Amino acid sequence: MADTTVTSTFRPSRFNVVTRTDDGDAVVLYNSMRGSVFRVQDPVGQRVHDLLHNRRSVLRRPDPGTADESRLFDTLVTKGFLVAEEHDELAEADALRDRRKNRTDRLELIIMPTEACNFRCTYCYEDFALGRMLTEVREGIKSLVRRHRREHGIERLTVAWFGGEPLVAFDVIEELSTFFLEFCAEEGIEYSAGITTNGLLLTPEVARRCVELGISNYQVTLDGPAHTHDSSRFLMGGGKTFDEIIANLTRMAETDADFRVIVRTNFTEANSVHVPELIEQLGGLYAGDPRFGVIYRPVGDWGGPQGEESEAYAGKQAEMTKLDLCSNAVESGLAPADDVFLKPNGSVCYAASPWSFVIRPNGLVNKCTVALRDPRNAVGQLGADGDLGLDQELMSLWVDNDDAKDSGCHSCFFRPSCQGAHCPLVRIQEGTRPCPPQKVWIGPTITTVASNGRTR
Ligand code: SF4
Ligand code: SF4
Repeated sequence: MADTTVTSTFRPSRFNVVTRTDDGDAVVLYNSMRGSVFRVQDPVGQRVHDLLHNRRSVLRRPDPGTADESRLFDTLVTKGFLVAEEHDELAEADALRDRRKNRTDRLELIIMPTEACNFRCTYCYEDFALGRMLTEVREGIKSLVRRHRREHGIERLTVAWFGGEPLVAFDVIEELSTFFLEFCAEEGIEYSAGITTNGLLLTPEVARRCVELGISNYQVTLDGPAHTHDSSRFLMGGGKTFDEIIANLTRMAETDADFRVIVRTNFTEANSVHVPELIEQLGGLYAGDPRFGVIYRPVGDWGGPQGEESEAYAGKQAEMTKLDLCSNAVESGLAPADDVFLKPNGSVCYAASPWSFVIRPNGLVNKCTVALRDPRNAVGQLGADGDLGLDQELMSLWVDNDDAKDSGCHSCFFRPSCQGAHCPLVRIQEGTRPCPPQKVWIGPTITTVASNGRTR
């Protein structure tokens, strides 16, 4: 990278976005190579806009005698909004992608201790065919971790418990977590774990044990207040779930344990009007507790036997609703947990990284947690010796289907964040570019982030 302290000519970064706020008295700036968002009030905002809006302009560093202009210019250089004229930003984006893909120091396992579930959500895509994880698969996972340490020298192990409902097979989680904690402590490997759970079995005793087992991140879904949640997320065989989940979370909040809970709300066009009711309730319970955050997702067409009856919600209106709900949550004292999508690498799906694997209860190795019945997702079969048995051609479909091969992505301002790999499944199944909604609706997205006070 050029030394910007001696460079005299600059140009706006190709990864900038500059937009005016709705009230029109400020601009919001974003740079996807830095992941930073700033709101700048007029008249300085207008000056920034003038400097950055034309990507082709070549700009000279102002005379140091013009102190304000010079300071503003230097700030834009330091924050990456202006780059040295000769700086090759496309090569920088290539290097960012290649660093992510080629790293051998980490292993990420998404483990399904069972595919059974105690719920039957209306939009679920799973078929619950596989029960509790087999003993030989559990042994295979332990061998896999030992092997990756021995052969690749991994320094970081990340585990995400997923299902089905993973807490239905809590003994599997206990057995493997105990191994991970001990092995990582002995070998000096950094270890972190999280769980996606419906929250019903997360009783105070189970939550305490989970925290002891190193599970620090929890994603729990509440689809609106009790009357909407209980109509889409009910028990197998029927039965309400909302009150018990809230009681479990509230008892977690009453402890001083170190964890992070993200409450996820899936919304449809029909039920989104009820979500503010949930936000008010959660605000009353968890406002100001930094361990609790919220995310909102329009219900997608996720396929599957239950999903056939669900209503998918997409497009601009869905995205605007999501942003409104985020703002609403901030007003209620809750913390939105969506910042990562704007960071470099932040919109890349785990399926696109060669060091990330989904391990199913029968030892089948997948890349994607959604397309569980697509044969192209069955990239390997874990052996008891920890060999993943990978089919390299299938692996390549997931990990090489990115911006390297897509000239359209090369000119994209969002490339450092997405790398053309937001959803490899879309490229595989539909042959189209998987632009994420946060890129498509970047203006409203960054304006909301800035007004929510999450400027970095
Ligand atoms: S490939 Fe797409 S559908 Fe699969 S986990 Fe990634 S983002 Fe989700
Ligand atoms: S897939 Fe879309 S958002 Fe992602 S890098 Fe390519 S053009 Fe940009």
